[in-house]
Amino acid sequence: MPPYGLPEKIRFCERCLASNAQPISCNEYKHTPEMKHEYIKFDDEGICAACRFFEARKNGVIDWEAREKELLALLDQYRSSDGSYDCLVPGSGGKDSAYASHVLKYKYRMHPLTVTWTPHLYTDIGRKNFDNWINMGGFDNYLFSPNGKVHRLLTRNAFLNLLHPFQPFILGQKTFAPKMAARFGIKLIFYGENQGEYGDKTSVNQRKFIMGGSKDEKDKGFRLDYAKPSDPPEEVFLGGKSLAEYFKEGLSYADLAPFLPADPAIIAKNEIEFHYLGYYLKWVPQDCYYYAVKYTGFEANPVRTEGTYSKYNSIDDKTDGFFYYTTFIKFGFGRARYDASQEIRNGHITKEEGAALIKRFDGEFPKRYFPEFLDYIGLTEKEFEGTIDSFRTPHLWKKEGGEWKLKQRE
Ligand SMILES: [Zn+2]
Repeated sequence: MPPYGLPEKIRFCERCLASNAQPISCNEYKHTPEMKHEYIKFDDEGICAACRFFEARKNGVIDWEAREKELLALLDQYRSSDGSYDCLVPGSGGKDSAYASHVLKYKYRMHPLTVTWTPHLYTDIGRKNFDNWINMGGFDNYLFSPNGKVHRLLTRNAFLNLLHPFQPFILGQKTFAPKMAARFGIKLIFYGENQGEYGDKTSVNQRKFIMGGSKDEKDKGFRLDYAKPSDPPEEVFLGGKSLAEYFKEGLSYADLAPFLPADPAIIAKNEIEFHYLGYYLKWVPQDCYYYAVKYTGFEANPVRTEGTYSKYNSIDDKTDGFFYYTTFIKFGFGRARYDASQEIRNGHITKEEGAALIKRFDGEFPKRYFPEFLDYIGLTEKEFEGTIDSFRTPHLWKKEGGEWKLKQRE
């Protein structure tokens, strides 16, 4: 049996070249080293669910005017009359959060509070884009930095146990927005686009998610994967290690709290709704980019991002490249394939161009920030490589002439 629930045969979408080993969800507080993931669905014609979603969108199945009306009705219901915060937009000042917060404030006359969970290690361009978002875009913002010692420890464990160094960051970032919303009595949280929806046909039409679940049948499918507060510490995992083990090592619940779900009592009191703006507004990554350049001073990376050809996707954290590199090792596809499949679907590049870009850049090692990453997680180069190789499953990898090669690659 392939590990992590990987598909037996690795395939690439006939249209957009996405891999069928692209995970779409994982119950992350149950993320043990043995956990199996769910993957993007392919149909009998070898077309991925993301392409089918785009097809439906292109064929006019989605009435964008009606969707915008739905949005207006929602906003009218929540808009504050005295200028106090009426919605919350989490983000880093990247193109998506810049676009979302800006249209909400300046087009739809809302009063968003923006909140940011700090990157592990800011890049210069990331910090600049964050500052421009706030200063030029004109937003109030809370920037939160969790205890760096704890974050480093969790990231190190997540790398060693799961080969997923971003897991603690993702969990912390995810729970931060609702915690801040609860603190300020804000009922409405806006995310940009729900990438996960592409891969999951059944939830394509979902527009809102209510914390703690919903009474309304059509809003079912709350997918933020919170551990139930009553779960015993043996069953809640951070970095592939249970809370019980951290407690034994002297860490307290309070030390780990920023990475854990919000207090259930707070959640019960606040009926906080999450909405994806991408449900209401047609979301084209390249358009968001041009919008953010114009209105919030967003700048693309002056140099090409390693592992891909693009210059504007997740560029604010020096450790980003290692997230994509580890998916390349575990799932056999990297950042270039991820970016290319998105752009093929959006019609910005052809399948042939995408294939050439993938061939050239996918899986490229992110060497620019390697020394800083090693220093951050406290590993030597040898320990790093040993861990990487231990996650190269024979299902995906073979060694040829002393070099690791993917077995199943177009
Ligand atoms: Zn596809």
